[in-house]
Amino acid sequence: MRLVLLGAPGSGKGTQAARLRDHFGVPHISTGELLRAAVKAGTALGLQAKAVMDAGGLVSDAIVLAILEERLSQGDTSSGYILDGYPRNVAQAHALDVLLGKLGQPVERAIQLDVDTELLVARLAGRALAEHRADDNPESVRKRLQVYEDQTAPVIDYYRHQEKLTSVDGVGAMEEVFERIVEALGSRYA
Ligand code: AMP
Repeated sequence: MRLVLLGAPGSGKGTQAARLRDHFGVPHISTGELLRAAVKAGTALGLQAKAVMDAGGLVSDAIVLAILEERLSQGDTSSGYILDGYPRNVAQAHALDVLLGKLGQPVERAIQLDVDTELLVARLAGRALAEHRADDNPESVRKRLQVYEDQTAPVIDYYRHQEKLTSVDGVGAMEEVFERIVEALGSRYA
């Protein structure tokens, strides 16, 4: 199962990716988490990425691709993975196709979690209180939603053109949304 999970910040993508990992027994690969780990470890790459992340911008395509490529080379990805937070723009979607094409293991499906913007803002405000993420301050939140609109939303069309896209209503209880995703994936992944 090689799945891409798409959705705005606050859409519940990270939570659902973790739930899908437990259900299907494949790793959850979050480029945001990989980057936060690099920042925490104080690597050169992490130091480079930190300011951009805190401001809510996108880290350079080359850095994120390098991190992802390294993660995908680990043995636990042989039966697939849930990709969360990548691709974030059309160039990354193309780079992913090139990378996976070389391995003969293309993306199978892209699931988009559909959530209204007003609800996203409310959810992110709640998360700011709970998690104290450096990029959950109001200004960075606004910036991240804008970056999503401008750069990430076109990725939805990218997968639609490839006939790999399924949109799922992301509003509702966590378990309810999860059931919708599993149903949307269909019998192939049952
Ligand atoms: P996330 O945990 O997915 O919300 O990501 C947190 C932050 O990490 C983002 O706001 C970006 O600054 C950075 N980031 C994560 N994934 C990517 C990516 N694919 N491309 C560029 N920046 C990324």
